[in-house]
Amino acid sequence: MLPAQFMNQLEIKELYVSIGENEIIRGLSLAVPRGEVHAIMGPNGSGKSTLAKVLAGHPDYTVTGGEVLIDGQDIRELEPDERARKGLFMAFQYPSEIPGVTIANFLRAAVQARLPEGEDLEATDYYARLYEKMDLLEIPRAFTSRSVNEGFSGGEKKRCEILQMAMLDPSYAVLDETDSGLDIDALKIVSHGVNSLRGPNLGILLITHYQRLLNYITPDYVHVMVKGQIVRSGGKELALELEEKGYDWVRDHAVEPAAA
Ligand code: ADP
Ligand code: MG
Repeated sequence: MLPAQFMNQLEIKELYVSIGENEIIRGLSLAVPRGEVHAIMGPNGSGKSTLAKVLAGHPDYTVTGGEVLIDGQDIRELEPDERARKGLFMAFQYPSEIPGVTIANFLRAAVQARLPEGEDLEATDYYARLYEKMDLLEIPRAFTSRSVNEGFSGGEKKRCEILQMAMLDPSYAVLDETDSGLDIDALKIVSHGVNSLRGPNLGILLITHYQRLLNYITPDYVHVMVKGQIVRSGGKELALELEEKGYDWVRDHAVEPAAA
């Protein structure tokens, strides 16, 4: 039995990740307990999306060292769907289109897939839950009869993603929100969603290039990632300091790969 403080968190310990010959993540450690919002910021190419993909279990990335634990259990050998069953939710920058499948049916299949074998999702229970979450997130009812991501604006894709997150009720959510494609509409949808869903049972890892998302979501902690390492951690004021001083200020503190 692990001590209680290690149970309710997503923990990354001394993680090393390579793509082919290139080491992208170099000894990164981070713990996101349920109930907290942690933001990772960093310049382009620092490995933020790589970290998100590794957490999701993407096959292109090789973990060469370290551990990733959900509630004390190492998930490195688990398939992406098994990670999801452990309570991990991933939101990506470029969600797929699924023509001909409505959001309502897609979410229903997703929620059903998460149930224990042999257990069925009652339609009435499902719709009650769907409408409850849509009301919480202020999503119009007509939205769920559209095909998943087909012809969606950036904001609508985000709305779909956030609704998916609400319906799956994860213990840990990792959101990779970047630079491009986040117009003000999308930004507000993401932040409203995150703020509505944040609570004691959910740990959120919010990855972002720009500080402006953090004008709408107040993180409990901010971590700055440079060249595959966390070079600085602090409270929400760290994001403001970065905005003011720029990434050069922290880049100077990063260790060159050769010297690591
Ligand atoms: P960030 O999200 O912080 O901008 P990324 O994780 O996307 O950074 O990229 C980190 C580094 O890894 C970059 O140098 C990028 O070129 C490299 N990289 C990312 N994905 C791949 C890939 N599939 N193949 C080769 N190199 C990659
Ligand atoms: Mg990225």
